[in-house]
This record gives sequence, C-alpha cells and structure tokens, in this order.
Amino acid sequence: MGKNKKKRHVYPDVPEPLPFEIVDNHTHLPVRGDSYADDEVSVALVPGALQPVPGASSTLSVGRGGVAGAPELANRAEPVSGHGLLLTIPGHLARMKAAGIRRAITCGCEVPTLQSTVDLAVRFPDQLSAAIAIHPNDAPLHRGITEESPDGLTHGLDPWHREYSLEDAVSLVGDLARDNSVVAIGETGLDYFRTADAGRAAQEESFRMHIELAKDLDLSMQIHDREAHEDCVRILEEVGAPERTVFHCFSGDRQLADVCAQHGWYASFGGSMTYPANADLREAFMALPRELILAETDAPYLTPVPWRGHPNAPYAVAYTVRFQAELLGVDLEEWCRQIDANTRAVYGV
Ligand SMILES: [Zn+2]
Ligand SMILES: [Zn+2]
Repeated sequence: MGKNKKKRHVYPDVPEPLPFEIVDNHTHLPVRGDSYADDEVSVALVPGALQPVPGASSTLSVGRGGVAGAPELANRAEPVSGHGLLLTIPGHLARMKAAGIRRAITCGCEVPTLQSTVDLAVRFPDQLSAAIAIHPNDAPLHRGITEESPDGLTHGLDPWHREYSLEDAVSLVGDLARDNSVVAIGETGLDYFRTADAGRAAQEESFRMHIELAKDLDLSMQIHDREAHEDCVRILEEVGAPERTVFHCFSGDRQLADVCAQHGWYASFGGSMTYPANADLREAFMALPRELILAETDAPYLTPVPWRGHPNAPYAVAYTVRFQAELLGVDLEEWCRQIDANTRAVYGV
C-alpha cells in the first residue's frame, strides 16, 4: 500500500491534553442521514458496543475489510460501508476527553441530518451540543436550482429537496431548534464557490430566514461564508445580525476582521489557518480582538498541520489551538482560558 493511500486511513495522533479544556465550536460528527455515513454509525451508538480507551494508541490500522489493529484498541476507526473509515461516536468522545476538548458543537445542515444531529446531542449532553440549519449550498436545491457551480460541480436533487420547499425546510429547523441541546442556528450564509449565480437569490433568502430564526429563538448563529464576504456583511447589516454571530471557518482577510471587530462578530478559526499559504488568514487572526476568537475543526475536512490530508475529528482542534497560542506568543493555558470564555459567551456551554 502506497504511503499516500495508507495516510487516508489514519486519524491524527491524540495530542497531549490541553492545560485547560476547551470546545470545538463547529464540527460535523457522523449521524444517520449523512452522505458519508449510514446505519453502521447508529450501530456504533449502541452503549457498550465499544469501550473507548482514552489515550490509547491512535494508530488506526484498519482497512475496509476490517483488518483491525490490536483488539484492545477499542477506539479504532470502524469501517463504514462505501466511504472509507469513520471513528465511532464513543471513539470521538473518548479522544476529545484525552485531548482536553470538553465539548463539541456538532452541525447538521441538511434535512435528513437535522433530527439525527439533535438526537446525538441529546444522547451525549455532557460532551455534545447541536447547531442546525439548511446549508447555503442546499438552499437553492430546495428551489429546484441545479446549475453547475463555479467550481465545476454539478448538483442533483435528492428526495428531500423535492419533498421540502425552502420555507418548509427552514421551518423544520425552527421546530427542532427549540430543543435545549441546540445552541446555534448554523451553518447558514453564502457560498459563491459552490453555488452558481442562478442559486444566489435562494441562498440569500435562506440566509435572511435563518437570521430571523436565530433572533426569534435567541440563539447564536454560525455563518458559512465562502467567497462572499461583502454580501454576507451587507445582509447582516440590512437585516440586523443576531446578538451572537460567528463567522465559522473564518476565511476573510484583515478587512473582514476589522468589520467583525466593529460589529462584535466572532471569528472561528479552523485548521486552514495552519496551512502555509494562508498568510492573510493569520494576519486577520492577529488583527482581531482576542475576545472575539473561537476555535473549530469543521471535521471531517480541513485537518490542521501536521496532519493535513488526514481525516479530521473534534479532538484535533487541540492542534489548531496550540498553533494559535504560538502565533500570538502567549501561554497556552492562558489562551485556552480565553477561547473557553469566548465560547461560553457565545453559546452558554
Ligand atoms: Zn461551512
Ligand atoms: Zn461546517
């Protein structure tokens, strides 16, 4: 097996625990209804199905055929049919504990994952909370708009896109968001990279509906902004942003950082800030008031260095937070305390 091929199957090592526990404020844990997960994920949720071993070796030598590593590595990755490997939920939670990540806010942003994401957070209230919304790239599909996007991707309608109008989908979000496990509306916003011009109006309408929803329910809001900084800011200013607004996976420059600082909007940084090419992102990070900064993984993508290219998971936010403290030249514990205070201010968890 070539080195690169093997690499895809290996999760990052579980790092030394952080000196003060923090939260991964935006991630996507696998739930029923995900395109990359299926029934085996729910199997993994059966209590006692796995007994995770915190701090166990993280070498995940598991192939699709189930060629597992040593049996004692109970937090090994489990094969999930069709789409490579996933760490089971108990495995994720055990690793979070081992790395000093006290909680993750997991996001469901398509109709079929809304309920299952809330269910997951309800099931593990000590370590999980939920954020739900209709993703900006799903919004046009609920209007039947499938034009090829600028990145060359063609879009097909899934059954739920036909079954739910955009209004009905957002109203389902509103119903489910009343559960106490839901701490944010998100991710919503604009994505001009993955949605064609024809879909922009639907995306904007969806964004406006979600803003109103977050305000009505007095919830925080997580914004997905991809190549759409100006319009995101314009809409927030027009409609009036929710009191606690977060640019998740912040991708702006110094200019957007200044706008966030002016408005008191939060910026959540993921693994992308650790990538060598993203100097603009680091400049924006440095320019932001420290009380407006959060940390996230956006797993399973955007794994921080030195594990770039590997599957991401909430515990790996520890790598990003260490990177941030080094960049700022501040004590790691002090920085973790700052991040944690910011997280509590936004989400109350
Ligand atoms: Zn996003
Ligand atoms: Zn996300």
